[in-house]
Amino acid sequence: MVISGSADLHIGFPGFIGECGISDLGARVELSVPKKDCAVGLLMKAISMQRLAIISYHTSPLVQPGTGDGGGMNVYVRQLASALARLGISCDVYTRAYSSSLSASIKVEPGFVLHHIPAGPLGKVSKVELLDHIDEFTENVLERIRMNPEQRPDVIHANYWLSGIAGHTLKHTLEVPLVTTFHTLEKVKARDRAIPDDDISEELRIEEESKIIYCSDQVLASCEVEAFEISSLYNLDRSRISIVPLGVDHAFFSPGDRGMARTAVGLPTTGKMVLFVGRIQPLKGADIAIESFIKISDRIPEAFLVMVGGPSGPFGADEISKIKRLVAKERLTERVYFFDPQPHEVLSSFYRAADVGIVPSRTESFGLVALEAAACGVPVVASDVGGLKTLVVHGSSGYLVTKRTAEEFSRYLVKVLDDTALTESLKIAANSLSASYRWRDAALRFQSVLMELTAAELLECG
Ligand code: UDP
Repeated sequence: MVISGSADLHIGFPGFIGECGISDLGARVELSVPKKDCAVGLLMKAISMQRLAIISYHTSPLVQPGTGDGGGMNVYVRQLASALARLGISCDVYTRAYSSSLSASIKVEPGFVLHHIPAGPLGKVSKVELLDHIDEFTENVLERIRMNPEQRPDVIHANYWLSGIAGHTLKHTLEVPLVTTFHTLEKVKARDRAIPDDDISEELRIEEESKIIYCSDQVLASCEVEAFEISSLYNLDRSRISIVPLGVDHAFFSPGDRGMARTAVGLPTTGKMVLFVGRIQPLKGADIAIESFIKISDRIPEAFLVMVGGPSGPFGADEISKIKRLVAKERLTERVYFFDPQPHEVLSSFYRAADVGIVPSRTESFGLVALEAAACGVPVVASDVGGLKTLVVHGSSGYLVTKRTAEEFSRYLVKVLDDTALTESLKIAANSLSASYRWRDAALRFQSVLMELTAAELLECG
């Protein structure tokens, strides 16, 4: 046996790794037993799973969510990497370098390092353009690992289809399993949207997603609804999908004094408050939030609406102009408050300030906003789609609206706002439902998926 470098030896089991070997970039360990035949080696690899490469190509987990490309995926990558690192799994997150002011690597916390990888021009780059720079990104990730062999991962975790393209190549180059979380899928969006929400060809994205899906050693879904959609729309055996529910940071998102919260964020301390939080783009239904509020504005004259978030995607700016025009036309500018995206610690005050949340999305693979509102003891009226079906128990913790119209949303908003006793029981149920969603549990579930993967053989393409 020849060992020319020790960077990848797994602490605690050097004897076994040495005997059965591992493939790696620089062939640092010469194989004495073929990988396929080495059951003990596979088992020991599973036990010693310790390093994850998380690919978040198009957006960094450290950017402000709630505008542009920043949303639930950023929160997911940030929180999951953090929770995994606390379980002892080192996480290297690779994202595209978008500014010259970024250092090559940032230690976010012990065991969690964010790497900025050059790919394409600095600054904002559209999703279509990003496609052209994936190969450069992938090559630079590999180069970064070559230069720092201790970063060689046991498993790759790709987020979103663009990262999946990079993850797929990395899987075959590094010969390690690929786990993919899609966050959104083109076939689901194409079914639920009225107009395209970006400038990428539908056929191209579906073709790329299919390749990634069929070569992912495991696809992660946030809930049964998403797992069913992946399995049925992409014809993937259900055994290839694992459910890893997302979490909520209860240290920030918890119930609190409504009046104090309103004072903290500069909102009126009296009157009923309806809250919308999210990226402003057609899929999120900010227009439905406004139209629903217009419908209740006469009936509940002391009510006001708060919209938190910024434009996202090629139609985001138009969407904001459209809803602001509508508010002005209805002479409701004094009762509709627009806020720029807020960091989590401030956003929690907005939730606590609210009486009811509105989540009128056309499509939603999970819906963190609904969960965060629930964790703050705020019931939501949400579209009956995707993950929201799991996060809201109709009539108990909030309401699910099947017919996505302002009439229906306003009907349920009035129901919640009119009945104090009902609101109290919804608040309690919402908060107790949220209690089972924790990032640590998500990480534990993810860890068990990783263990199974490293004990299994690599899935081949085709
Ligand atoms: N968010 C935030 N500040 C804002 C608006 C949104 O931090 O001003 C966060 C929000 O807390 C949530 C995420 O952005 O964690 C949005 O996730 P969701 O799943 O609701 O929607 P997505 O963006 O993934 O479509």
